[in-house]
Amino acid sequence: MSEITITRTTKPGNLPDATKLGFGHCFADHMFVMDYEKGKGWHNSSIVPYDEFCMYPSAMVLHYGQAIFEGMKAFRTKNNEITLFRPQDYLSRFNRSAEILCIPQMDTKMVHEALKTLIQMDKAWVPDCFGTSLYIRPFVVATDPYVGVKVSDTYKLYIILSPSGAYYAKGFDPVSIKVEDKFVRAVHGGLGEAKTPANYAASLKAQVEAQKEGFTQVLWLDAVERKYIEEVGTMNIFFKINGELITPALNGSILGGITRRTVLELARHWGVKATERAISIDEVYEANAKGQLEEVFGSGTAAVISPVGELSWKGQKIVINNNQTGPFAQKLFDYVTGLQYGKVEDTFGWVETVAKL
Ligand SMILES: *Cc1c(COP(=O)(O)O)cnc(C)c1O
Repeated sequence: MSEITITRTTKPGNLPDATKLGFGHCFADHMFVMDYEKGKGWHNSSIVPYDEFCMYPSAMVLHYGQAIFEGMKAFRTKNNEITLFRPQDYLSRFNRSAEILCIPQMDTKMVHEALKTLIQMDKAWVPDCFGTSLYIRPFVVATDPYVGVKVSDTYKLYIILSPSGAYYAKGFDPVSIKVEDKFVRAVHGGLGEAKTPANYAASLKAQVEAQKEGFTQVLWLDAVERKYIEEVGTMNIFFKINGELITPALNGSILGGITRRTVLELARHWGVKATERAISIDEVYEANAKGQLEEVFGSGTAAVISPVGELSWKGQKIVINNNQTGPFAQKLFDYVTGLQYGKVEDTFGWVETVAKL
């Protein structure tokens, strides 16, 4: 592995009180940076103080959006160890997104080692309270100073760290969701499978309109027939119907969540039938009419599990499990967070201890 050049901050900051953290505003002292240049490959690995950086106004990412990112977390366990959850799975997906955006492949083992070094340096920034975490945001941007459309020849990879408060500070709160029948997030053959800023830009308008109407998030339907369910907001979605767990199959326009994979693997491990297939919104409404729709929940790194209490499709509203968190959603949340915070023994090899306080 190439050496990482380390420059320590001369102005170390302080971790705010866990109750004041919120999400995404506060950043740890250091960041990892690496450059890519055609012919030279990835080089110049360094850890430097978190700060502004220079880029030409013509940098390609600013004009045509050639960029990818990841979102993962580090946790502080009750034994004051710092853990990562399935880190190699997130980094493999990073490379999959890179491939879709024509960004050069990274050595995920090297990035993994760099991430561990960074977290060891900033371990004091991992907040100490159940539900809080150090959010990890790796990203790559195209940096060629060029305003024509092409694949960039130069890139920068960054990893920044953001201590985050508990997602459920006031306990589980099932959300009210609008089934989106006008806007779409992604199409087959598009960028839906990649974690890339463009997909988020494409989702803003629907999100704003849904929030104006009093909903928390939108449920995306497929872009062709507006019939098959894709994702909820920026999470994958699960339906428990008549004892069976169903989630849309990864069809090319859905982001393959690591939490989604964890949910499927745990369900199967517990002997619950878990199926990945196309599921239409009509099927969900019919199951509800027959009294068979037991639970609906989203899955993602930020919330882990987010119970859905209400769905509204073309003005028709259905209430799921009395707008209460269902037992299966609760069991998954407790188990996954239990693994992450070291309360449940890891028999899957998902948890990696990277530092000790
Ligand atoms: C990140 C993301 C998810 C959830 O993936 P996790 O790996 O579970 O965090 C789902 N949908 C979209 C669009 C995403 O960007």
